[in-house]
Amino acid sequence: MASSLLIYCFYALVILVPMAFYLRSQKRRAARAREAAEKGKLFSEGPKAQHPHIDVTNCIGCQSCTAVCPEGDVLAMLGGKAVLVNGYKCIGHGLCAEACPVGAISMVMASPSMGAEMPYLTPKYETSVPNLFIAGELGGLALIRNAVNQGRDCIDTVANRVAALGAARSLPGVYDVLIIGAGPAGISASLRAMEKKLNYLTLERDEIGGTVAKYPRQKLVMTSPVEFPMYGKLKKTELSKEELLAFWNQVLRRADFKVRSGERVEDVRRGEEGIFTVVTNNGQYSSHAVVLALGRTGTPRKLGVKGEELPKVMYRLIEADHYINKRILVVGGGDSAIEAAMGLGFQKGNQVTLSYRKGSFSRIKERNAKRLEDCIRTGKVKVVLNSIPVEIKADAVILEVSGELREIPNDFVWIFAGGIPPNDFLKKIGVQFGMRDITLEASSEAQQAALERKQPAPA
Ligand SMILES: Cc1cc2nc3c(=O)[nH]c(=O)nc-3n(C[C@H](O)[C@H](O)[C@H](O)COP(=O)(O)OP(=O)(O)OC[C@H]3O[C@@H](n4cnc5c(N)ncnc54)[C@H](O)[C@@H]3O)c2cc1C
Repeated sequence: MASSLLIYCFYALVILVPMAFYLRSQKRRAARAREAAEKGKLFSEGPKAQHPHIDVTNCIGCQSCTAVCPEGDVLAMLGGKAVLVNGYKCIGHGLCAEACPVGAISMVMASPSMGAEMPYLTPKYETSVPNLFIAGELGGLALIRNAVNQGRDCIDTVANRVAALGAARSLPGVYDVLIIGAGPAGISASLRAMEKKLNYLTLERDEIGGTVAKYPRQKLVMTSPVEFPMYGKLKKTELSKEELLAFWNQVLRRADFKVRSGERVEDVRRGEEGIFTVVTNNGQYSSHAVVLALGRTGTPRKLGVKGEELPKVMYRLIEADHYINKRILVVGGGDSAIEAAMGLGFQKGNQVTLSYRKGSFSRIKERNAKRLEDCIRTGKVKVVLNSIPVEIKADAVILEVSGELREIPNDFVWIFAGGIPPNDFLKKIGVQFGMRDITLEASSEAQQAALERKQPAPA
């Protein structure tokens, strides 16, 4: 009798002890998730752009999604299901959607108000103007991988459309397609156009490489494996800006890469016959289709203060180590401003002041918030909150701090007030804007794959 009681106790322990540990770990995880959610509320009003949407009826709570997110706690597990706790941190990697074994995650845009600021696109990235396509960040999704995939897919559609034109395709002086912008989306579109043997031309106002060419030196670029037409897969998921630019250069050297840089597109008009006229600062071109791969960086937003036209005022920092022993003002409250201030603060002899118009940094990455605290503590960066520059002089800057004027000695000013996206340009050329849910190719592929796994194999 006693021995069977002992056996019962033993089995009870074997079952109950691991269960108690499991429940305790679940409780801790839920507490961490709630804490992250609270922080999420504190740091922002919610997702800014693309973010994962979880179909809770399908979610099996396996945690694959929370484990793969490179941005940290965008998702967390609450009550055995994945929930969005820090949507504002999502920059659209879509790895969670790829990792979800049951296809319960799709990537969607933020809010109706956000959608209203984005061009309306069909699933083939066509705008409301027939045969006018948008690829890359201009369509609302960030990341190199998305830009590359969309640039390639647009050209596949164009190739089918121009093939269907038959004899009407070969008109003198009319390209099959004009690609505008030579960032990741435009380069990928150009490569695909070469592969498909299209009669194409790429127009770039600036340098080849787009936003990537303007990253700070040695910036680590994170990308999930991305496949460039003609070149295959870039297998490394972390590479430096310079490595990526070396790849661009390989493309540039190709005789069949037909690009004209220094050509800023100013107008795109579609004539009655469906032929586009693209007007640049240098001339004009005609084509059957146009791919806009302009990115969303647009033009840097200016402060409009006296002295802003001085050559010491800049809007982009590429080489922080070129500036030593200088008195520097950085203006802005986003990640770019903070990273620039810290980068400059670490150079020998620099005195860096970071001016922000608000009372706290509410929309920066937590990693940056922590690093900034360290920089303030060690004197590498001095932060002046509730301040705005009112005048920039040759050797000083006047800041208005909580209503009082303060003059500080200064050699250089960097302004990070965001960019003006080319929305006005798009509206001028007839592109309609409006809300839509967009689903990353990655997530739809993942969903498709998951669906296929769930469905019985065809007989
Ligand atoms: C600081 C920073 C860090 C980032 N880090 C990463 C990262 O680690 N990993 C990642 O995947 N993504 C990262 N991104 C995002 C990534 O750089 C972009 O999503 C990507 O470059 C978008 O590619 P795109 O071709 O759509 O646009 P862009 O790269 O912006 O290229 C657009 C091109 O169009 C040209 N253009 C614009 N207007 C005209 C015109 N009117 N006429 C002719 N040409 C025009 C521009 O000069 C530019 O060359 C980062 C972005 C920033 C700002």
